[in-house]
Amino acid sequence: MRQVFLNDRLVPENQAQISVFDRGFVFADAVYEVTAVLDGRLIDFRGHLARLRRSLGELDLTLPMTDAALLEAHRAVVAANAVEQGLVYLQVSRGVSDRDFRFPDPQTSPTVVLFTQKKTFLDDPLVARGLHVTVHDDLRWQRSDIKTTQLLYACMVKSRAARAGADDAWMQRDGLITEAASANAWIVTADGVVRTRQLSREILAGITREAVLSVAEARGLQVEEGAFSLDDALHAKEAFMTSATGFVSPVVRIDGAAIGDGRPGPVTMALRERYLTLMRDTAI
Ligand code: PLP
Repeated sequence: MRQVFLNDRLVPENQAQISVFDRGFVFADAVYEVTAVLDGRLIDFRGHLARLRRSLGELDLTLPMTDAALLEAHRAVVAANAVEQGLVYLQVSRGVSDRDFRFPDPQTSPTVVLFTQKKTFLDDPLVARGLHVTVHDDLRWQRSDIKTTQLLYACMVKSRAARAGADDAWMQRDGLITEAASANAWIVTADGVVRTRQLSREILAGITREAVLSVAEARGLQVEEGAFSLDDALHAKEAFMTSATGFVSPVVRIDGAAIGDGRPGPVTMALRERYLTLMRDTAI
């Protein structure tokens, strides 16, 4: 049985209890982070902490826990569950109050939950084959830059993709790809430019995206942050997506059409390898 972290201590998962009045449950009034664990250590933890603080700030949600305490909690769940490879999920909700749309004033005590999932994502066979994605209208709310637990639309498009026999879903708005359902979307254009959409309220500022931009620049690749269309993606040499637990994952089919030669591309796989090496070297 897993040990999970609830508010200030580790408890067995079957003893972790949260009120039905928790605003995370009632309103999705909660933010989260997912940090990958490799070799028993946290990948790019500082980046996840910084984004957590930003998400909290955008929602006027005060978390009375220091960065050091959050790091300690992450390390405690990893150690208690002997996670060598997997992830830590962290969620902070506004806590318990009577159902009322207005944020409680003064703020209720936030609910903090951390749990682990073991995963062997380093040897994912889908990476060797390359992912198939379908493209859907992006009908999410317009603050996709805040990492809230309101993920229902992502669940809908991922389920639709699965029903269509695909592995994942990308989304588009106004004729331009925004991002994947739970990852950032990228292409390598016919002339070798590595391109991903610029940051705005319409996409999540991926921690992996940021690291991969640096890795690509350090490798001397031509990198551009800017939007691209589905048609651009269909004519690209390569396509891939980035996320904390998918790292850099090749995309070889979009809406059934092969990208490039239909196999994971060399730029994608080089970025994946370099990213993983760098992250394992700097994990904490
Ligand atoms: N975009 C969305 C909508 C996501 O849900 C995620 C991750 O969950 C990402 C992008 C990638 O972010 P990160 O690289 O920080 O995992």
